[in-house]
Amino acid sequence: MTSRKGLATALCRLVFFCATFCTTPALAQPPAANQMPSVIQVPPEAQATPHFDATAATNAYLAQIPTDKTARSDAYFEGGYWMSLWDFLYGVAVALLLLNLRWSVRMRDLAERVTRFKPVHTFVYWLQYLVIATILAFPLTVYEDYFREHKYGLATQTFGPWMGDQMKGLGVNLVLGGLLAMLLFVVRRLPRTWWIWGAVVTIAFSTFTAMIAPVFILPIFNKITRLDDPKVVDPILSMARANGIPAKDVFEIDASRQTTRMSANVSGFANTMRITLNDNLLRRASPEEIQAVMGHEMGHYVLNHIYKGIMFSVILFVLFFAYLHWGLDWTLKRWGEKWRIRDVTDTAVVPLVVLLALIFGFVTTPITNTLTRTQEYEADMYGLTTSRQPDGFAQAAIHLGEYRKMNPGPIEEWIFFDHPSGRNRIYAAMRWKAENLKLFTGSRCVRVGTGAPPVQAELQLGSCL
Ligand SMILES: [Zn+2]
Repeated sequence: MTSRKGLATALCRLVFFCATFCTTPALAQPPAANQMPSVIQVPPEAQATPHFDATAATNAYLAQIPTDKTARSDAYFEGGYWMSLWDFLYGVAVALLLLNLRWSVRMRDLAERVTRFKPVHTFVYWLQYLVIATILAFPLTVYEDYFREHKYGLATQTFGPWMGDQMKGLGVNLVLGGLLAMLLFVVRRLPRTWWIWGAVVTIAFSTFTAMIAPVFILPIFNKITRLDDPKVVDPILSMARANGIPAKDVFEIDASRQTTRMSANVSGFANTMRITLNDNLLRRASPEEIQAVMGHEMGHYVLNHIYKGIMFSVILFVLFFAYLHWGLDWTLKRWGEKWRIRDVTDTAVVPLVVLLALIFGFVTTPITNTLTRTQEYEADMYGLTTSRQPDGFAQAAIHLGEYRKMNPGPIEEWIFFDHPSGRNRIYAAMRWKAENLKLFTGSRCVRVGTGAPPVQAELQLGSCL
């Protein structure tokens, strides 16, 4: 998606660090086409016995997934690999079209005729560019985001509301992208140091966007409410207090408007940082599963992943702008005259900047995925230790398998996965369980009530450790 929605979206997404555990889309008419089983019973191999073996337990969990469901989610996820290639090539083609047909130059000329006030030139250009690039990209967008999502039972919207969301997205892009473009064209007037200032401006702008997003941008698309069911909220807030997290509220988002995907995330920055669960998760997950997921999200919080993500994007943006500085010089020397672009301060250069950004993003994807995946793994470890719900965690990994391949090869996981694969997550949970079997066995540790999470039993009985 980033590849077809322009530089601003790509840049904003980079820093709009949304530590997504599960992720997004859900069907209004349950059951969803590819719903994974909600395992209530822990398989015999995964039950706490003296012969417990983490690998056998992992395999037993994986065996609970019907093969047709696995095949379907594998097809969806592997198709995504190709979609990223098509997105990239399509984006490159659109940029080359705008440059070679000199549409970009015509848009610049029109913007200059509208007003003599220079910063407005940039905005008027951005408006034209965004509309035309969106229209050109529309066939791929509608296939990828609408038809393909419906085909795999992940989307819930009919065409009208989907289109409405697209228009809202366009509006957000117009305002935020326009502001960023105006700021960048101001600093480009500094002939030798523009790329350094460009990085500084983009980092500041992206951090600001990440901060306001939960409060001002997400509510444009979804309804976000405070969760007030004490059965769900109390154990979460208790876990938060135990981990030194000053949370007073947990939020719910009505993601089922768009998707069947179960998800939770930590979003925002400083005062707007918050933990949000989506309604699909709340509807379909067991209390054990929710606690496992929340432990994971709290891991992101306690391990300062948002701040580390910002630091990483600082490095990435500086590298990107250094490369952009070199790349623009190199290409404009060769084809600048043909494209009738005057220099880097000319607004008509935007499709070229987008083109170079697409190449940078495509090449660095395995690196950004690996950074995110590493943080997700850290949050998994933290979540297991905190929630003590390895079986709830395994169930969550199975639910996520509705849109993520469960069992990829190691190189495939390294390149394409921004979260650990389902198999690795279940194995990590079972490994944790193997090392903590005493929490789940022993005559003095009686489970309180049917299905009571072990963590509750521990708290009530007090001395099982
Ligand atoms: Zn996460």
